[in-house]
Amino acid sequence: MGIHTADAIVLRRYPYRETSVLVTCLTDRFGKIKGLVKGLRVPVSRHRSAMEPLTLNRLVFYDTRSSSLHLISQCDLLEAFPSIQRELEVARVAASCIEVVDAVLEPEEPQADIFRLTRDTLNRLAGSVPSLPSVWIHFVVRLLRLVGFHPQLDECTGCSRQPTRRGFWSVGQGGVVCEACLHHDPSAEPIEGDWVDELVGCGESDGPVWTLQHGPMLVRRLNEFLSWRVERPLKTIRSAR
Ligand SMILES: [Zn+2]
Repeated sequence: MGIHTADAIVLRRYPYRETSVLVTCLTDRFGKIKGLVKGLRVPVSRHRSAMEPLTLNRLVFYDTRSSSLHLISQCDLLEAFPSIQRELEVARVAASCIEVVDAVLEPEEPQADIFRLTRDTLNRLAGSVPSLPSVWIHFVVRLLRLVGFHPQLDECTGCSRQPTRRGFWSVGQGGVVCEACLHHDPSAEPIEGDWVDELVGCGESDGPVWTLQHGPMLVRRLNEFLSWRVERPLKTIRSAR
């Protein structure tokens, strides 16, 4: 049994029994963890954070012997991002980001880069941004790269022949297919315009690309890809459109 300290972004929160809550958090040092906070819902709580989703907290937690559920003994609120909650569209994009991170991450796999990306994205959304879809696209593309599961765009998913950015888009194949490999997915759509180049550029950029020519198309393609990746439609996915 160990005792740990970590900074954590709350991804999900459920009531548990009379006064406790179960939370899923993205931490800086331990990846995605599940934890139980006892006594959080009593009126006078010794915990300073309510562990609401989309907040940044400093946690002290213990391993439990029986399961991957950790016992959170202390949670201090570091940042509540109130300006995200003040605007519905901003709140929806932020909710979509944390739903996506929760959906694509395996538990207990420490990835500090993903924590930083998520925290930086929330900080960005808490400020004023010229384009919400640009923030969402950047977040999703970078996240998928960090988890090592991103659309294959530089070569055909069937024969690995390069370059095929002008071929066909196949969500079922996880990226681009060339004409010779269309039998893998006859429903693949011809790639029109240079949206694939723009998507690649978003993945290579340190921050959001504000002047996107194909923003709605990129959002649509990433939504398709995510739904295929996690094998279910995400609840908040439409909100990023
Ligand atoms: Zn091919």
